[in-house]
Amino acid sequence: MSAKPKVAFFEFTSCEGCQLTVVDSLQDHPELLDTVEIVQFREAMSEKGEDYAIAFIEGSCSRPSDEPKLQAIRQQAAIVVALGACAHLGGVNAIRNRMPLQEVREYVYGDRAEWFETYEPRPIKDVIKVDAVIPGCPIDRREFIKAVTHLLQGRMPFIPDQPLCMECKLKENICVYTRGKVCLGPITLAGCDAICPTYGDGCEGCRGLIANPNIEAMRQVMHEHGLTDEAIDAKLSMFLTNQIMALEEAG
Ligand code: SF4
Ligand code: SF4
Ligand code: SF4
Repeated sequence: MSAKPKVAFFEFTSCEGCQLTVVDSLQDHPELLDTVEIVQFREAMSEKGEDYAIAFIEGSCSRPSDEPKLQAIRQQAAIVVALGACAHLGGVNAIRNRMPLQEVREYVYGDRAEWFETYEPRPIKDVIKVDAVIPGCPIDRREFIKAVTHLLQGRMPFIPDQPLCMECKLKENICVYTRGKVCLGPITLAGCDAICPTYGDGCEGCRGLIANPNIEAMRQVMHEHGLTDEAIDAKLSMFLTNQIMALEEAG
């Protein structure tokens, strides 16, 4: 019997870009394949084992029939890791959560809306207990490798709670606001090496909110840089719909 930890990958509503990033990471670090046994990974293998201790879940829960599948994974796995913004936040899929569900269904499926089962996309943690998160859209390669290394050492992957601006400043980037662009860096969790501002674009918030984000101040800054209320709402909805809605509900 293999003494290696058995690992499985699952996807729910997603583009599978995070799983592709995992494949990419493993190509750079093939040594990891000597330390774990992958029993399920549709992107990379056809075998399918149901005996696993660590489950990586990509994608949001977007229909009622996802729930029993997630619960079965939770029952089997000792450790569940949410992989990427869809699993962590509901992802881009959650943009529609501010609109009436039936309208969205009819817009997408027309008069065949009833053929397709769907409800408001939600993060995995809203359905089952999640032990760790690897944020991002897609996930960061280095962070994935670090997370697996930590798991193999018996530690949980750790994501520091600091805003992207800190990382951006340490890279000595010139703030994109000085060039007329907007950026969600002050309220977004760091860890991607500030990749978007480094290449001249504002952050869209794919890693999710820091703890205690000052949304009002963020809105004010975007206002001062010429964004309308509608444009600000759109900016805050790309990845953050569910988190912002939860903050609004909490008052
Ligand atoms: S987080 Fe982004 S890259 Fe990953 S599955 Fe979702 S949409 Fe794709
Ligand atoms: S570019 Fe964005 S992340 Fe960088 S300092 Fe400016 S607001 Fe912060
Ligand atoms: S800069 Fe923002 S949008 Fe870009 S990868 Fe990092 S967290 Fe995501």
